Amino acid sequence: MSGRAEAPDACQECQELVLAEAAAKRERDGSRETDCRVLRARHQAAVHGARA
Ligand SMILES: [Zn+2]
Repeated sequence: MSGRAEAPDACQECQELVLAEAAAKRERDGSRETDCRVLRARHQAAVHGARA
C-alpha cells in the first residue's frame, strides 16, 4: 500500500513549519521563531494527535 502518509511528525506542513522556524532562527527573528513553534505544536496536536 503506497500513498499513505502515516509519518507521525513529518507531513509537508510540519516540514514547512520546521523550515520557517529554522529560517527565523537564522535571522534572529525571535518572535517569528516562536510563532512557527506555536503553529507547529498546534498543527501536530490537531493533525497528528500529539500532546502539547
Ligand atoms: Zn504535520
